[in-house]
Amino acid sequence: MQPVRIAAASLCRRAGHFRDAAAPKTRRMQKIEHIGIAVKSLETAVPLYEMLLGTTCYKTEQVESEAVSTAFFHTGDTKIELLASTDPEGVIARFIEKKGEGIHHIAFAVADIWAEMKRLKEQGFELLSEEPKEGADNKLVCFLHPRSAHGVLVELCMEKP
Ligand code: ZN
Repeated sequence: MQPVRIAAASLCRRAGHFRDAAAPKTRRMQKIEHIGIAVKSLETAVPLYEMLLGTTCYKTEQVESEAVSTAFFHTGDTKIELLASTDPEGVIARFIEKKGEGIHHIAFAVADIWAEMKRLKEQGFELLSEEPKEGADNKLVCFLHPRSAHGVLVELCMEKP
């Protein structure tokens, strides 16, 4: 997969285009839906984040396919998702082993995940799955490889229809 290269002139044209077309309905990435944070243990991280954010965790959920336990907090219009591995070989366990605890991904809400996956693929972004997967919190999700976005793991997510 080729890295994404966009000429400066093309970037400006695109910026202009999106300024004109930025009605909420057509906006591609509608908002930051949540920020995912990798932690070693929910038992210690949940009470700490409750104290930090001044709000209680409203949901915990296991995502078997990803070998993670998740805990969610509302922060205004956005959420914080804590992720702890349920398997020492799982993706979150490996992430923490390599980089330590911390910000793991940024998730953007999209209106049509299939359309966005197609658009981003055509533009040269590297998707980590060919089809949307079942995520936590009643979402369909797809991740882009961090190589595609200057080291940031980007998640697309859409409320399940
Ligand atoms: Zn997420």
